[in-house]
Amino acid sequence: MKVKRIKKRKLLEYIREREGVDIPEHFLVFAQVKRLHEYKRQLMTAFAVLELYYGLKCGKLRNLYPSVFIFGAKSAPAYKRAKAIIKFINEIADKVNSDGQTNNRLRVVFVRNYNVSYAEKIVAGTDVSLQVSTAGLEASGTGNMKFMMNGAVTCGTMDGANIEIVERAGPEHNYIFGATVDEIARLKKAGYKPRRYLSNADHRKAVETLIDGTFSDGGDGAFKELYESLVDGASWHEPDNYFVLYDLDAYVKTLVRICADYGKGRDFAVKQLKNVANSAYFSSDRTISEYARDIWNIQ
Ligand SMILES: *Cc1c(COP(=O)(O)O)cnc(C)c1O
Repeated sequence: MKVKRIKKRKLLEYIREREGVDIPEHFLVFAQVKRLHEYKRQLMTAFAVLELYYGLKCGKLRNLYPSVFIFGAKSAPAYKRAKAIIKFINEIADKVNSDGQTNNRLRVVFVRNYNVSYAEKIVAGTDVSLQVSTAGLEASGTGNMKFMMNGAVTCGTMDGANIEIVERAGPEHNYIFGATVDEIARLKKAGYKPRRYLSNADHRKAVETLIDGTFSDGGDGAFKELYESLVDGASWHEPDNYFVLYDLDAYVKTLVRICADYGKGRDFAVKQLKNVANSAYFSSDRTISEYARDIWNIQ
């Protein structure tokens, strides 16, 4: 707990210097740092954060542990939707951080130029690692292992190496939610209709901030295009082809549960330590030895 406190302080100092965003040291730190891609679902985290924000504002969420959501990502140069998502999260950060009614409980920061130097600090200072890709789409992930090894619990889907993280450190020491690979396959077969998930007023409010004027995309229509990709689809894909709206409900509930658990104290540190203690499995030596034996058939 002491090490985590020291690393968190260093991280928050670094963010204060580089981004000019002030985050108090007692905040619970969530982080989603990785390439920006629709399948990695940073947009789902953005909606979840908005739901927490509106929950705080209307008084529905009373005891949310003071939390910060740190995002870091780069987009491929021509990936318009990825850039729109970056813009959207920055807009959310501006709104949330400047709201005096809630900013003692919730803050958001999208760090600039996420790279290995930033990763070193974020990975060490984070309490909860967000690994929320659509089940079946992340080959492995390596960020998830870095966080585990450095004492963050994983809040994530049954995807990539999250599966092995939970196998090793125990489901009771991590937070797994959302559709499984089989469930996604069933949904696709049955004809997934994401629009119906917007009948929930909380989800609708969060998602419609893309089109109701709450935020500005600078007038290029990028936010509306994101909205349409979810509810109507596009010429090249079905609506919400990464199942953001399907998993959003479970995601928000899981985040609220994490906040409640963190507030209870030491038990959360036990979860973090169990993750560190079981992370040796991800040693590259073990991996290469297994490949040599089972795949390459060499001594
Ligand atoms: C580890 C790492 C990644 C890969 O992260 P994933 O969560 O596995 O996608 C990307 N960028 C940087 C700077 C990293 O350190």
